[in-house]
Amino acid sequence: MHNKVSESSPTVSLRIGVSSCLLGQKVRYDRGHKRDRFLTDELGPFVDWVPVCPEVESGLGLPRPTMHLTKNADSVVLIETKSGLDHTRTMEVFSRRRVRELRELDLSGYVLKKDSPSCGMARVKVRNEKGMPDRNGIGVFAAILLQALPDLPIEEEGRLHDARLRENFIERIFAFQRLNRLFTGRWTPRQVVAFHT
Ligand code: SF4
Repeated sequence: MHNKVSESSPTVSLRIGVSSCLLGQKVRYDRGHKRDRFLTDELGPFVDWVPVCPEVESGLGLPRPTMHLTKNADSVVLIETKSGLDHTRTMEVFSRRRVRELRELDLSGYVLKKDSPSCGMARVKVRNEKGMPDRNGIGVFAAILLQALPDLPIEEEGRLHDARLRENFIERIFAFQRLNRLFTGRWTPRQVVAFHT
């Protein structure tokens, strides 16, 4: 795997969480992947990736049935499309545990797979009461990640194809890393002013 990095590596410089399929790992429901060339070829040389596939790591199997989000009374649930089996609880329990681990890894950012009912950070399809899709959902794992790490720079790979959003994300991940480093040691107000300058 390109630039796959050990989570315990002591020489890590810029550590970024990522949906595993974006690095070319064959973890999608059909054993496919969604390798993103910008991530692997352009950003990859500067990054130590921490790949996470919530669906495989939570035990949903490989290959596995397709899933989607659907509205259920006041909540949104993650279900298998054919059987209707509800995996919401499994995914939530897994995600809380995995996000607790990720908090300890000193991440500087995260790139999520768009449109996924587990990883998508916005505009994920949610079937409404009539079975029609509304694009107003958040993947189950992504929602827990966003809630637990609200300051972490997080983007979807689709948005990073926009040059302006990409530049903004890169600035944010480097700034986040520098600020974290500053505050982990002894710091002075002068250093904080220098950082902002
Ligand atoms: S989108 Fe997320 S859950 Fe789906 S295959 Fe990629 S990493 Fe796994």
